[in-house]
Amino acid sequence: MRIGIVGGGQLARMLALAGIPLGMRFTFLDPAADAGAAALGRHIVGAYDDPAALDALADASDVVTYEFENVPADGMQRLLDRVPVYPHPRALAASRDRASEKQLFRDLAIPVPPYVLVDAETDLRRAVAELGLPAVLKTRTLGYDGKGQAVLRTADDVAAAWERLGGVPLILESFVTFTREISMVAARGRDGATAFYPVSENVHRDGILRISRCRREDPAATTAQEYAARLLAHLDYVGVLALELFDTPQGLYANEMAPRVHNSGHWTIEGACTSQFENHVRAVCGLPLGDTAPLGCTAMLNCIGKLPDIDAVLKHADVHVHDYDKQPRAGRKVGHITVRSDAASALEDLVQAITQVLPEN
Ligand code: AMP
Repeated sequence: MRIGIVGGGQLARMLALAGIPLGMRFTFLDPAADAGAAALGRHIVGAYDDPAALDALADASDVVTYEFENVPADGMQRLLDRVPVYPHPRALAASRDRASEKQLFRDLAIPVPPYVLVDAETDLRRAVAELGLPAVLKTRTLGYDGKGQAVLRTADDVAAAWERLGGVPLILESFVTFTREISMVAARGRDGATAFYPVSENVHRDGILRISRCRREDPAATTAQEYAARLLAHLDYVGVLALELFDTPQGLYANEMAPRVHNSGHWTIEGACTSQFENHVRAVCGLPLGDTAPLGCTAMLNCIGKLPDIDAVLKHADVHVHDYDKQPRAGRKVGHITVRSDAASALEDLVQAITQVLPEN
């Protein structure tokens, strides 16, 4: 089967690495001449709203999927007119804007932090009065890895935050004092079958994911699964979806969802019977989903900025390096490292050892 992917970054690359053994062939649409996935298939160099490039992708594909959320809606529709696209772009439409995403969560009785939509500085002052401080101001679209966000701690922060982010649609959310951040990575096949990975427990710094740990037995797993299942069913979803949640003493709050494979699921490559990438490929191709059961204890550490010395990493047993073939740049995800162990305590020793050699941690 021929799979087209909108985007040619590391997620597309890992999808191809999982799909090629299943006999799939890949075409990537990405404007960057040095797209990391290009080595694994055909690369159409073009903009995501270029009709000729989109048509070339559709012509080269039996099915199309995407690796990021900010695909222009018109471009998606053009593809959809020519070829099946999974997950259906209605999932993109829901997640592209934090306002529609939060409304969807509410409609499905998935709790969210209190929030107010903000379009003008006067709205922001009203929203601060309504929600209280601290609060987080976010752009409603195009934000990722903590970009387009400002934490407001005192009334003095309001003007500067507006200065920095104002002029585009914004959302102010109450600051959640969570005990931890978790995500649920789930898959749904074309036949409606679902599969859920163990909870990932995620550590972010400066809005960027640093470490995800597979939590084989997690008290939040049942609720997180239930919330993800509601989204999958409601969206008649096909593929892998990730739901990011804040765990608090009052229960779980949904932060956001990603209608795609997700960084917090990268540990599944070595840490689960079937990786999130293989399950996404299986789902969009109409194949049966694979077992999501964990294999031992697993954690994933992101390499931010540049890769560590590979010898210092690989001298440890059961450690796996994923190099995304990207140019080093501060704050950029250029690779990840998976560590595995049969015992949780030994895993933490490995996490510590690898953390020591990561350049930006
Ligand atoms: P996001 O882009 O919404 O995923 O936010 C990036 C990170 O910022 C999250 O993973 C949290 O660590 C933090 N964050 C976002 N929203 C909130 C919030 N309402 N309260 C506290 N921390 C937040």
